[in-house]
Order: sequence, then C-alpha cells, then structure tokens
Amino acid sequence: ITYRVTAGAVPMQGQTGILVSFEDITPMEQAGQMRRDFVANVSHELRTPLTALLGFIETLQGPARNDVKAQERFLGIMGAEAERMNRLVSDLLSLSRVEAEERVRPADSVDLGTVIQQTRHSLAQLAEEAGIEMSLHLPPEPVVVPGDPDQLRQVLTNLVENALKYSGKGTFVRMSLGIPDYETRLRGLGVRIEVSDTGPGIDAVHLPRLTERFYRVDSHRSRELGGTGLGLAIVKHIVNRHRGRLQVDSQIGKGTTFTVILPMDRRPE
Ligand code: ADP
Repeated sequence: ITYRVTAGAVPMQGQTGILVSFEDITPMEQAGQMRRDFVANVSHELRTPLTALLGFIETLQGPARNDVKAQERFLGIMGAEAERMNRLVSDLLSLSRVEAEERVRPADSVDLGTVIQQTRHSLAQLAEEAGIEMSLHLPPEPVVVPGDPDQLRQVLTNLVENALKYSGKGTFVRMSLGIPDYETRLRGLGVRIEVSDTGPGIDAVHLPRLTERFYRVDSHRSRELGGTGLGLAIVKHIVNRHRGRLQVDSQIGKGTTFTVILPMDRRPE
C-alpha cells in the first residue's frame, strides 16, 4: 500500500495546529506500474524481431553479398520476422480498440450460429494443415444475442486458432453453442459458446493469468507458433464489453475448454 502524506500548519482556536493527511494512492501507483510494464513488454517484443532484421541486413550487405543461396535463406527469415512485427502491431491496435470501446454497449444483433460457421470456414485450411479435425455442434434454431459481429468473430477466431496452434496432429477441436434453459434466461444469462480441444492442457497455476497481456505458458513455443501473447487479452476485453463471462477448464494431457457465456437478447415471454 502506498500513501501520499501531506502535512501543514493550520490555525486552531488561536493556536497553530498541524494537519496531516494520508491518501491511499495504491490504485494510481498500480496503474502507473502496469503502464510502465506494458510499454517495456511492447518494446521488448518489437525489439527482438527488429534486432534480427538489422543483423540480417548487415550480413546481406557484407559477408553474404555474393552468396545467392544465403541471400534467399536470409530473406525468408527476414520475411517471417517482419510478419511477426506485423502481427504484433495489429494485435496491439485491436487491443487498444477493444479497450476503448469496452464501455460502449454493442448496438447490433448477432446470429451466433452464423459467426461460428464463418469461423470454422475461415480456419478450415489451418486445421487441415495441422492435421486436426474440427467439429461443430449447433442447435437447430438461430441463437441471436446483442453484440458486435466482428468482435465476436474475433473471439471465436482467437480461441480456435489457439486450440489449433497448441494441440498436436491427430487431436480434435470442437465448437459448440448451447442455449440456456428457461430459468437461466430469466436471470438474464446465458448462451454458452464452447471451444474445446484434446491438446496438451494447461497447468492449473497458469489459468488465472492467461488473459494478462503477454502472459504465455511457454514463451518459446508461443513465439515459434507465431503467438503475440495478446490473443486472450483481446478476448477478455470483448467478452467484458458484451457483459459476458470467460471460463477456462483444462486438464494436463486431456485438453482445454474455453467457455464464453453471453447474455441473451430478451427475456423469454
Ligand atoms: P499467444 O499469442 O501466445 O497464443 P494468447 O493470449 O492467445 O497468446 O494465449 C496465452 C497463452 O495461453 C499461450 O501462450 C498458451 O501458452 C496458452 N494457451 C492458450 N490457449 C491454449 C490451448 N488451447 N491449449 C494450450 N495452451 C493454450
């Protein structure tokens, strides 16, 4: 806890008194510290690919000037590093956008079944390349919630991309949509979107911190797979904006399930 202590002389019944005030500035200190940590993290994340690029440029200008084979190889690596920076910058922009909009209620209505099908469609090739079978479980009727379709698509995309990234060949990824029963809807709660995988699972100690910016269970593996460490932070902000809840259940060796619970449009008649 950090206090700001101020003291001064004040007139008191003809005498001089001393007034001491204690102000708890812990929240401000913490916010300042978080901002500083964030800037330090961003700088570090950008500097790593930048240093690699500068190193390769120097090599291409010097020792590898006449080596066509080496040039080709280095340009390939440079392209991958530039892509990494590009991903990081677009995730940072998404994060700042969703943060800015967090207090604005989404005005549109979204058919979740359609969003889930679109996500599956756009990630089908990635799943095939990874050797992972994706399945969908949707109710027959449309499920409509108040929301921002692009943002909800981003939630699904980030969760499924993670499932595909971290689960190995031969595993399964399942997307499902569950409608709440009458009681649950009366409480204004409800639709459950689940993304489950049969991948490696996440140790329980990490679960509470997964949505922190740049938090990764295995940094090396995340970077190798093109992760920025921001995907779940973005998911969390979008879910908050929709007044929803994000849950994660995981068992080492068995797999992981991310559940997004969103309030429904209207209470049932
Ligand atoms: P990243 O860009 O590193 O994937 P995220 O914020 O999306 O960042 O996820 C944070 C971390 O959570 C990941 O680095 C990974 O360690 C872990 N993680 C997320 N989803 C899964 C999953 N389905 N299976 C195993 N680990 C996961």
